[in-house]
Amino acid sequence: MAYRALPTQPEAGEPMVVLTAPDLPWPHGFTTRAGGVSSGPYASLNLGLSSGDDVEPVEANRERLLTALGFRRDAVCAFHQVHGDRVLPGQPSWFEEQADAATTDVPGRLLVVSVADCLPLLFFDPVAEAVGAAHCGWRGTLAGLAGKVVARMTERYGSRPEDVRVAIGPGIQGPCYQVGDEVVAAFREAGFPSDVAVPDEAGRHRLDLVAANRWVLGGAGVPSESIWSSGVCTHCQPRLFSHRRDAGRTGRHWAFIALPEPS
Ligand SMILES: [Zn+2]
Repeated sequence: MAYRALPTQPEAGEPMVVLTAPDLPWPHGFTTRAGGVSSGPYASLNLGLSSGDDVEPVEANRERLLTALGFRRDAVCAFHQVHGDRVLPGQPSWFEEQADAATTDVPGRLLVVSVADCLPLLFFDPVAEAVGAAHCGWRGTLAGLAGKVVARMTERYGSRPEDVRVAIGPGIQGPCYQVGDEVVAAFREAGFPSDVAVPDEAGRHRLDLVAANRWVLGGAGVPSESIWSSGVCTHCQPRLFSHRRDAGRTGRHWAFIALPEPS
């Protein structure tokens, strides 16, 4: 696991720490709680407005991250996530569109998804030179969103699935992610392998979103060795926000990726 500390403003007090996937040369990462100005349950790098934090610190955090990454706000494609399966062609957007994924082949365009337990997936195709980002909670996973991103990359940029690489960031997993019988039944009905939802000793089911997304991606033609997962559980890791652990009073991380601009 490679944590990379980005340069940040000296007054931050704590460095901005961003989790990155190994061997991915393009600008990308998964933020942690570190390096922002929000306080209380949102401390400190809360990048989302949907859980009760004030606009001012959230916008300051977003600006702080974009500055550290070297991106302007008008280069960002961020959208209003609705647990659906729409994949935007990643035009610049500041939370205007409703969608849960985006793709682009435009250098310098930063794709962003917000998460706090749901899985963030980053896609990159070094051959067709295209990237994607997706927000996969159980509904998006069930809808096969990860496979739809790959399909859109093929349609839009000529990506071959065997060239696409995927980085799965932190999300709730293992024994921390228990779900109801109706969720398990929906996955079974959709044809997911039975080991995606495993009963524990108490007869409750845990849902393995990483395994489920690996299965979706395999069906879309992405080789298993091209899929990397952080293995980090948001619920277990106090350096990360977790919607379930903190009963909704928590912040949001960003997962982001861009094609580099030619130097
Ligand atoms: Zn956990």
